Amino acid sequence: MDTRLVAGAGGSTAVADAVASVARLVGVLAGVVSRTPAAPSPTDHVADADPLEQLSESCLEGLAALARVEAATAAAKVRLVATYAEAATIIEGPAVSAHEASAREMTVVAEVACVLTIGERAASALLGEAHALTTSLPAVLDALQTGSISWQHARVLAEEITGLSPTDASALEAHFFDPHAPNPARGAAPGELVPSRFRRKVRSWRERNYPDTLEKRHAVSVADRRMEYRPDADGMAWISLYLPGDAACAVWNKATAMARGLQGPEEPRTLSQIRADMAAGLLLGHTGQHLQKLPVPKADVLVTVPVFSLLGLTEEPAELDGYGPIPASMARRLVADGAGSFYRVLVDPRDGAPLEIGRENYRLPESMKRWLRMRDGKCTFPGCSNHTLDNEVDHLTAWQQGGTTGISNLGQACPRHHRLKHRSAWTPTEAAKNEPPGWRSPTGRYYPAEQADWVPPVIPQECLPGPPKFSTGLATFSTGPPTFSSGPPTFSPETASPFEQALLAHVAA
Ligand SMILES: [Zn+2]
Repeated sequence: MDTRLVAGAGGSTAVADAVASVARLVGVLAGVVSRTPAAPSPTDHVADADPLEQLSESCLEGLAALARVEAATAAAKVRLVATYAEAATIIEGPAVSAHEASAREMTVVAEVACVLTIGERAASALLGEAHALTTSLPAVLDALQTGSISWQHARVLAEEITGLSPTDASALEAHFFDPHAPNPARGAAPGELVPSRFRRKVRSWRERNYPDTLEKRHAVSVADRRMEYRPDADGMAWISLYLPGDAACAVWNKATAMARGLQGPEEPRTLSQIRADMAAGLLLGHTGQHLQKLPVPKADVLVTVPVFSLLGLTEEPAELDGYGPIPASMARRLVADGAGSFYRVLVDPRDGAPLEIGRENYRLPESMKRWLRMRDGKCTFPGCSNHTLDNEVDHLTAWQQGGTTGISNLGQACPRHHRLKHRSAWTPTEAAKNEPPGWRSPTGRYYPAEQADWVPPVIPQECLPGPPKFSTGLATFSTGPPTFSSGPPTFSPETASPFEQALLAHVAA
C-alpha cells in the first residue's frame, strides 16, 4: 500500500507530528508539576512567595498545561481516525453499489467504535468531525494540536460549517483564526471563551453572513414545533419544566384536550402544532380566540436589527437579546406586532449625545441602561451566559471611590458574579465605549472581555446615495461601494436619527 495516497487527512507525517506535539506538551506538564516548593525554578515569578502559594500556583499552571495536553491528544485522535478511514477506503477500492458503500461505512464505524470502546453513534460522529477538521478546517486543527483551543471548540467549528460551501467554511474559519482576515473577530480569542460562548459567537457570525439558509431552515423547523413530555426518575417529569410527575402529566393532558377542542375541518395545523401554540399562548398570557395562532411575545426584549433588513430590503438576520440570531422575517414581525415593547437597536451607525455623564448623576438614565445591554449583552464575567434581563448594572470603580456613571465605568454583572466581586479579589478591568470590561482573578490572571462580533450591515445597491450626503463612524458613502473604517459602529440612544424616523414611519404605515 502506498501511504502517500493517504493525502487528505495528512497521512503518516501528520500523524507523527500530532503525536510529537502531545509528547512535547506532556514534557511541559511534567516540568510544571515536578517543581516543588523547596526547589523553585530560577524563572519562577513567585520565587519569593511562601511554599503554599508556590504549590497552588504550580497546580494552576499544571491545570493549564494539562488542558493543552488534552487538546493535543484530541488532535492526534482526529488525525489517526481520519487517516485510518481514508486508508480503509483506498484498500477496499470503489464500491459497486450504494448497498456495498453503506456496508463499508458501517464496517469503518464499528472498527473505530470497538477500538475506542465507545458506541457506534459516538464513533460515527467522531469520524464526521475528523473528516471536517482534516479537509475543511486546517487552521482549527493546528490550533487544537498546539493546545490553544480545546476539543469542544474544534467540535463547535466542525458542526457550524455544516451546509456551508468550502469557500464559505474557509471564510468562517479565517474570521476566527486568521488575524489578517477582513474584519476579523474582535475581543477574546476562541480559546479564551468557554465553548458555549464560542458557539454563540460562531453561530451569530454564520447567520449574519450566510442568511440565505436561515429563513428556509426556520420555516421547516416552525412546522416541526411541538410540546414534549418525558417522565424522569424520582417521581419527576420534564415538559422542559422539571415538575413532579403528576403535575407534568396533568399539564400534558390538559394541553392535549384543549388542542383537540380546536381541531376541525377548517384547522390546518396538526395536533402537535396546536398543542405547542396553546401552551406558548397560555404562558404568554393570551386567552380564548387568541390561542388560535402562534402568539407574538410582548415581553421587554432588545432586538438588534440591521435597518435595511427591517425595511425588507435585505435578508440579514437580527440578533435577539438572550437568544441569538433570528431570521429577518421574525424580526420584522416582532417590530411590527410588538411595537412599544421592543427596544430596537439599529445596526446602522449614528453619532449623537455623549455617553459619559460624569459624577452629577448616580442614577442611570434608561437610555444608558439599554445601551449597556446592547454593549455587554450578558454578564461580563468570563464564561457566564446570564443575559441582560437578570443582571445588575455595576460600577467597575465604586461610586464612593470616585467612580463615575460613565459608560466606561459600567458593566453588567449577574447577581452571582456581582456578589463574587464584592466578596473576593476578582475585579473587572476598565471598559470602553464599545468594549465590555475584562476580569482579573485573585491570582493575577487576566481574562479578556468576550465582545460582540458586529458585522457592518449589507447596503442594498438602490440605497447607495449619490455624491456624499452623509458620513458616519462606520461607513463612508460615495458613488462607489461603501468602505468601512475600522472599529465597531457607534450607538447613541439619545435622539432618533433620520434612519430611525424613516423606519418608524415605515413601521407605522
Ligand atoms: Zn455572571
